[in-house]
Amino acid sequence: MVETKLLMIDDEASFLATLEKRLSVRDMTVLCAGGGPEGLALLDANPDTDVVLLDVKMPEMGGIEVLRRIKAAHPLVEVIMLTGHGTVEDAIEGMRLGAFDFLMKPCPIDELVAKVRDARNKKHHHMAKILEAEGKRLRGRIAR
Ligand SMILES: [Mg+2]
Repeated sequence: MVETKLLMIDDEASFLATLEKRLSVRDMTVLCAGGGPEGLALLDANPDTDVVLLDVKMPEMGGIEVLRRIKAAHPLVEVIMLTGHGTVEDAIEGMRLGAFDFLMKPCPIDELVAKVRDARNKKHHHMAKILEAEGKRLRGRIAR
């Protein structure tokens, strides 16, 4: 099975620790960041990341701002917003800004894993199409 590279950005350390433990056994490589700036730096250092699980509500930099920056610097990376009660509107705003989907906390692990896999598949499908287009362009150049 192909490994999924996941980055989780959340200010709740216990939430990250629990999820990391449970996801690392499911053919996923998991990176964790306790806030937006740290998460963005980790993403820059690991540009082959497939999916970002992103908390909406964080003190230093809000999830919406983090999402904007991710999409500007790494447009192919899929982002799933994590939201609690009272921040669903932010999650919807995130979808408008290009987030793949959102999940309500607490979220059953199987649902989370399934959503991460869907997001990863979307990213890889998208990348395959870009490579195909690039191949066509190169063949066209050779034929000319
Ligand atoms: Mg939070």
